Amino acid sequence: MRVLIFFLGSLFLVSCSATQEQRGLGGDLVDSILQSMTLEEKVGQMVQLNVEMFVVREEGELIRSIRLDTQALIEAIQEKGVGSIMNTAGGALTLEEWRTITQTIKYYASPEQGGKIPVIYAFDAVHGANYVSGSTLFPHQLGMAATWNDSLISRFGEATAEESRAAGVHWVFSPILDAARQPLWVQFFETFGEDTYLAGRLSKALVRGYQESDSPVAACAKHYVGYGFPFSGKDRTPVHIGERTLREVHLPTFKKAIDAGLKTVMVGSNEIDGRPVLANKYWLNDVLRDELGFEGVVLSDWADVAHLADWHRIAEDNREAAYLAVEAGLDMAMVPNDYSFVEDVLALVESGVVSEERIEASVRRILQLKWDMGLFRKSTSDAHLYHREGNKMAAFQSALESITLLKNEGDALPLDRDEPILVIGPAANSMSSLNGAWSRTWQGTDSLIEQEGHLTLVQSMREHDPDLRFLEMGELGVVHDLKPVEHLAKTASAIVLCLGETPATEKPGDIRDLELDELQLQLAERVLSSGKPVVLVLLEDRPRVVSQIAARSAAVIMAYRPGSEGGRALSDLLYGKENFSGKLPFTYPSAVNDLTTYDHKHAETIGPDWGPTGFRPQWEFGLGLSYTEFEYSDLQLEKESYGLEETIELSVVVKNTGDRSGKEVVQVYIRDEIASITPPVKRLRDFQKIELAPGEERRVSFSIPVEDLAFVGMDGKWIVEPGWFTVMVGGLEAGFIIQ
Ligand code: BGC
Repeated sequence: MRVLIFFLGSLFLVSCSATQEQRGLGGDLVDSILQSMTLEEKVGQMVQLNVEMFVVREEGELIRSIRLDTQALIEAIQEKGVGSIMNTAGGALTLEEWRTITQTIKYYASPEQGGKIPVIYAFDAVHGANYVSGSTLFPHQLGMAATWNDSLISRFGEATAEESRAAGVHWVFSPILDAARQPLWVQFFETFGEDTYLAGRLSKALVRGYQESDSPVAACAKHYVGYGFPFSGKDRTPVHIGERTLREVHLPTFKKAIDAGLKTVMVGSNEIDGRPVLANKYWLNDVLRDELGFEGVVLSDWADVAHLADWHRIAEDNREAAYLAVEAGLDMAMVPNDYSFVEDVLALVESGVVSEERIEASVRRILQLKWDMGLFRKSTSDAHLYHREGNKMAAFQSALESITLLKNEGDALPLDRDEPILVIGPAANSMSSLNGAWSRTWQGTDSLIEQEGHLTLVQSMREHDPDLRFLEMGELGVVHDLKPVEHLAKTASAIVLCLGETPATEKPGDIRDLELDELQLQLAERVLSSGKPVVLVLLEDRPRVVSQIAARSAAVIMAYRPGSEGGRALSDLLYGKENFSGKLPFTYPSAVNDLTTYDHKHAETIGPDWGPTGFRPQWEFGLGLSYTEFEYSDLQLEKESYGLEETIELSVVVKNTGDRSGKEVVQVYIRDEIASITPPVKRLRDFQKIELAPGEERRVSFSIPVEDLAFVGMDGKWIVEPGWFTVMVGGLEAGFIIQ
C-alpha cells in the first residue's frame, strides 16, 4: 500500500505495508523528523490552543457564523508550530462550519503553504459529537453504564467517532474513567459509575469503539487519577485516598483502557494528599508509564499548568509550573489561550534546566499519535459519511436499556392509555433535562435550540395518548403556580411526576446538598398529597436524595441523562411498549450523609443497634426491575477447590417466569471471607446480559480466573491469598476454597 506522507515542506512518497502502517511510524522516521525540527518547533508541538483564539469576534462577542482570523492561524501553525487546537467556538457548529475550521487548519499546516507538521484537532465528545449541530446525542456515560451492555458501549463509541471525523476532528476527550463514589461530585453522570470492574469492562469497550471504528478517533481517558473523589465533593478540590485504595479502585479502569490500546490520557486537576498529580512524577511516569505500560500522549486539563502556580501554589510563577509539569511527565499542555507555555519551556531548555532530550521524548509521542490517526497521509477530504439513522437507533436502544425501574408497587406501571394520566414537573417538557451538560453548549442549558427531530417526554407520551394532560410549569428553578395541581390531580387516575436537576458540569455545577431544591419538594408534596398513584421519573446527574418522595410514590424510574432519544425511550417504557432492563451502576443513598458504596467493608454494616443495619441505601447497586420476573436456580461450581493459576467455572439457571420477554443482567459477586486487607462484603467479578422469552430458561456460564480475585496488599502489589470465598448470583450462594 502506498501512503503519502508530508513533512519538512516537501512531499515524500513512502511505501509501506498495512502491518507497518498499523504498527505506526517507525522510530527512524520519527527521529529524522525530530532532527529536522528546531527547538521552537518541538516545543510548539507540546502546546494545545483553544480555537476561540482564532475566531473573529465582533464587539467582544462570538459571532454565529464562523470567520477565522487567518493571520493568527498562520502565526500559530507556521511560526509557533502548535501541535493541537481544541474546543468549540461559542457552542455547537454545523458540519460545514466544522469543516471550514478543520480544513483551514489543515491547509495552513500543509507543506504547500509552508507548514511542517499536521495539527491534531480535539474536542469534548462525551455523549456523541456533542458540539456538532444535529449529531446523535446518546445517554451520558452513567446511563450507558446502566445498560451493562459492552456491545452497545462500543457502538456508541463508533457512532461518536464517525460523527466527529465527519467534522474533521481526530481526537475526543472521552471516556471519563473516574470512579463515581462521591455523589456530590458534579461530573458523576459522566462516569461509568462506582464499580471498578464494571467501569473497567466498559472503558475497554468504549476505547475500542472510538479507536477501532472505520473512522477512528483517538480516545483520551480522563482524569488521571483520583479526580472524581474530592473530599468536599466540589470540583477540583483535594482528594485524600490512600495509595493502596488508589491502586485497587481507581487505577484498574485506566489499566483496562491502556490494554485496549488507549492513545491519550488527560491528567486530573486534583491534588492527592497535597501534591497535584500534574506535578507528580511518581503518578505520571513511574506508575502510568512503567507500571501500567502507557506509551501514548499525556495531556494536561484546561489551564492546569498555570494552576500549579495560581491555584495550587506549589510554583512561584508559570515558568516554574511548566518546569514541574514537564519534569513530572507532561507531553502536551492544554494552555489554552496564549503562548506562555511555549515561552516558558523554551526558556527552561535554553537555560539548561530542562534537557532537549526530555522535550523530544514528548514530541516523539505526539508525532506517533498524529501518524496513528492518519494525519501524515494525504487524503482528499475529511468529510466522512455516516449513518445518521443507524446512530439514532443505537442512541434509542441505549436509552431504552439504560433507564432503570427502581420501584413498581401495585402495578402502577405500565400506564393505561385509556385512563386519564396527568404529567407534571419541570423536567417533563425539556430537551435539556434529557440531554444534560455537554449538549451543544458546555453547560447544556440551552439545548432547546435543537428540538427538531427529537421529542421531550411529554411530546413522546402524546404519541401514545393524544389526550394526555400536562401542566406546563417552565424550566427548573422557576417558581410555579401550584394552585392548578390539586384540581388537575383530582381528575387523573395516575400522575407522572418528573423531577431532576438543572444540567451542569464542572465548577458551575458544584452543589452543597444532595436533597432536591425547595421548589421541587413543594411541588412533590402537592402531587403526593392528592392521594393518586404517583410515578416518579428522575432526570438527574447523580442520586439526589428522594427517600421521602419515593416512599409515597407507587413507582420510581431513574432515567439519568438519556440523550435526545430519551423522551421516546422513556414513554415506550412507561406505556409498556418496551420492557425495562437498566440496572443501577451506583448505590442510591437514602440520606445525604450516608454515602456508602456496595463494596463496603464489613465494619460498615454494623448499625447503632450493633446489628447488620449499618448499610441502608435507598436502592442497591445492580438493582433494576422489569415488567417480567427472573428466577435463579441451581448455582453450580465445577469444583470446590482451586489453585492460584486455575479458572473458576460456574453456571446458574435463569428462567423468565413472567408473561413477556425481557433482558436480565446476570451478576456474579465474590467475597473473600478473610484477608490481610479488610475484605469488602462483595465485589462484582463478572456479568452477562441475556434476553429470555416468557417461560424460557437458560444455563448461563462464567469462567473467572482465580487471579481476578486479587486485591492490593500492604506492599502495594496485587495478591490472591488462599482461603475461603463465597460466590453470589441472583440471591444464590456457594462456597469454594483457593489453595
Ligand atoms: C474538563 C475536561 C475537559 C476539558 C476540555 C476541562 O475543564 O475538566 O473534562 O475535557 O475541560 O474542555
